[in-house]
Amino acid sequence: MFITENAKIVEKDGKKLVTDCTCVFDGCACDDIACEVVNNEIVTVYNACKVGTANFLPCRGAERFTTPLWRASKKEAFKPISWDEALDKAADILIKAKHPMLFGWSETSVEAIREGVRLTELVGGTIDGQVTHCHGPSVQAIQEVGYAGATLGEVKNRADLIIYWGCNPMNAHARHMSRYSTYVSGFFRRHGRQERKLVVVDPRHTDTAKLADVHIQIELGSDYEAFQTLRALIRGAAVTKEKVGGIPIAVWKQLAEDMKAASYGAIFFGLGLTHSASKKNSVAAAIGLTQDLCNITKFQIMPLRGHYNVAGLNQVLSWLTGYPYGVNFARGFPRYNIGEFTGVDMLRRKEVDAMLNIAADPGAHMPQKSVQHMAEIPLIACDIHPTPTTELANLIIPGTHDGIECEASCYRMDGIPIHLRKIVDPPEGCKPSNAHWLQELVQVVEKKLGEKHV
Ligand code: SF4
Repeated sequence: MFITENAKIVEKDGKKLVTDCTCVFDGCACDDIACEVVNNEIVTVYNACKVGTANFLPCRGAERFTTPLWRASKKEAFKPISWDEALDKAADILIKAKHPMLFGWSETSVEAIREGVRLTELVGGTIDGQVTHCHGPSVQAIQEVGYAGATLGEVKNRADLIIYWGCNPMNAHARHMSRYSTYVSGFFRRHGRQERKLVVVDPRHTDTAKLADVHIQIELGSDYEAFQTLRALIRGAAVTKEKVGGIPIAVWKQLAEDMKAASYGAIFFGLGLTHSASKKNSVAAAIGLTQDLCNITKFQIMPLRGHYNVAGLNQVLSWLTGYPYGVNFARGFPRYNIGEFTGVDMLRRKEVDAMLNIAADPGAHMPQKSVQHMAEIPLIACDIHPTPTTELANLIIPGTHDGIECEASCYRMDGIPIHLRKIVDPPEGCKPSNAHWLQELVQVVEKKLGEKHV
């Protein structure tokens, strides 16, 4: 199924070295990681950043779920149950519910998401994930005005102007600059950083801004105005304002000139842009600027996606239903409407009467009203360790660490599918993969619905 012939597993003196592993943490999905394994435990990690390394190493002292746990009432203590009982109870909860929500998916595999879509269709529910409260507006903007995208490999090999707008990769995507954009040497950029200009546009003096050739400390919420000003300048229009976004117009004129002079420019943006004033319109203006620049030179734009497979949820949902997130199957066919079928909103309006959460922690990240409703409805939570969400659950399903404990696949932030190698076996009691137990749950639901309809 996967192309694995280039990867190596070397065994020596009781140690196993597994090369070409992929870091399953953020959207960089760095696939050049090597792990040293002793007695089915990763002991050393090579090439990953500090956060990625911590994600590979076993979480000592933290409780690991290895058996399903159940409680009928949320006031009771959890009791261990068998997998068969757990899948039976999960199926009953989802079938009985009128509006079940199947939420999360950004930190599990493409294969698991595919099973999740089938399950949602069977129970007539809604499927959504973290994208709804992170890069949702970026996805909406792309749907409206298109996308002048590229692969990270193209950026590495060609870009001579890198712009980070409203993001701080030094803290959030630690290897992005060294592996894909700024410091790395590429086919046409042999001297790496020396051949690239780095511009950061951010109201904050971030760790990324400290490394920039130019830091434009724009006023909070003025991104839309700044992009339209740049578009006007690039088209040769006269701009009479002295300042835009608190920055003198001469600075914007210089940036416009640098953009036009670049042989290949790359704009990366984060939630600082996506969630600034006018949200999707700001992103649409940024894409419009990129499209204008492509009339003069070559430019690309890309959102810095957070979770390692958050782009995968958009991809799988798009190829199976035609829509990227917030997809509802209540009428037996997929419907899509942001605000109407998105997780935070449905929970806040108390429209959801049961929930399956997997590979996400909405209990820690959603607004209080949405979390309060999660506490009131039957909740199935699949996770590896205890989280605020599992604290609210009736049924806890032990998760498998996809891409470490099983072979799988994900989509990197630039939409490139990446193979995830298995490095160690999952602990005893866990299923071989999340896709595995979801497939079993689909079969239980199909059987129950078949029996019901006879
Ligand atoms: S940059 Fe992200 S994907 Fe790469 S090693 Fe660090 S945490 Fe992992």
